[in-house]
Amino acid sequence: MNIQKPVVGIIGGGQLGSMLAQAAKKINIKVIILSDDKDAPAYNYADQFIHSDYNDNLQIEKFVSLVDIVTFEFENIPFEVLNKISKIKKVLPLPKINQIVQDRRKEKSFVNDLGIKTTEWSFINSKEDIKNNKHLLPGILKTCKLGYDGKGQYIISSVNDLHKISSGITDCILEKIVNLKLEISVIITRFHNGECSIYEPIENNHQEQILKYSKIPANINQGIFYKAQSDAKLLAEKLDYVGTMCVEYFLTMENELLVNEIAPRVHNSGHLTINAFNISQFENHIRAVCGLDNEKVIKISDAEMINILGKEIEEYKGKSFKDNEFFFDYGKKAIKEKRKMGHLTTLNK
Ligand code: ADP
Ligand code: MG
Repeated sequence: MNIQKPVVGIIGGGQLGSMLAQAAKKINIKVIILSDDKDAPAYNYADQFIHSDYNDNLQIEKFVSLVDIVTFEFENIPFEVLNKISKIKKVLPLPKINQIVQDRRKEKSFVNDLGIKTTEWSFINSKEDIKNNKHLLPGILKTCKLGYDGKGQYIISSVNDLHKISSGITDCILEKIVNLKLEISVIITRFHNGECSIYEPIENNHQEQILKYSKIPANINQGIFYKAQSDAKLLAEKLDYVGTMCVEYFLTMENELLVNEIAPRVHNSGHLTINAFNISQFENHIRAVCGLDNEKVIKISDAEMINILGKEIEEYKGKSFKDNEFFFDYGKKAIKEKRKMGHLTTLNK
């Protein structure tokens, strides 16, 4: 029997969109990318590329008419856009999930309501609210919406810092700063039938709030290993999730595991799955949203990954690499400070 494979539409054409498109190609699935950046790297990997603003109805309608399923590489697409598309074609993960995860207040409440711990936090809508939550200081003030890679975050050591913030404060959360032993993430893919493939926890190192380095195995005990995996499974189930998602955790000096945030998409810390496992987070995402079966994920090797930021890419371009080193150049035209330009995965057998 000749089963027709679906055409997948991906919103977003950065490195995540590129790696999704490459994974789809590997299993013979066609990909159409919609991006608001005409120089988006995924242009080089998609079967078709549509350059459009995310609110250009005509172009979005054209995109939707050409695909069977719509998914995305970043979570900050307006809910209204995804919801509108979902009336015509299947959107996975479901748009309602983005509504929760796009907003730190809703995300943290959702996690806490399941009995899963996060840092102590409070909703903040004015400077007065910070003064009334002194027990959360020193803390980090984070905008509820549209923050990533540390953007929209301000460290508040004491109420004396408040004068430094000139603008008004609305729709933020204040989170107590925790003493981190380390940070880990769990990448999980959930399939249509509810089956899950859960990768082992990955240890992550951030510099200036941007992921710099990831490795497996993470330096954690078995209890934390399984707790991180089972919390991720519960979150994926309660979100009714289909596709690959990532749960970021803090492990405190007191060995307490806290959920930091959920990314409803493939994740930077999972780049090492391309080389270290038989099936990557990207292939698993495509498999899940296309309704394919959950195939057993097998680890090939221990691994580490370094993010290549900004101008660092220039020195990597001229390097020669060993057999266990895999260099990925995202092919971004403009080099900007701290911009993710590529990564290097090293397998450590
Ligand atoms: P983003 O959405 O930008 O990734 P995060 O909330 O994940 O923002 O914060 C980025 C990084 O900043 C974290 O991975 C961690 O290293 C550090 N960080 C954030 N919140 C806290 C906190 N409450 N205590 C200690 N470190 C934190
Ligand atoms: Mg984060």
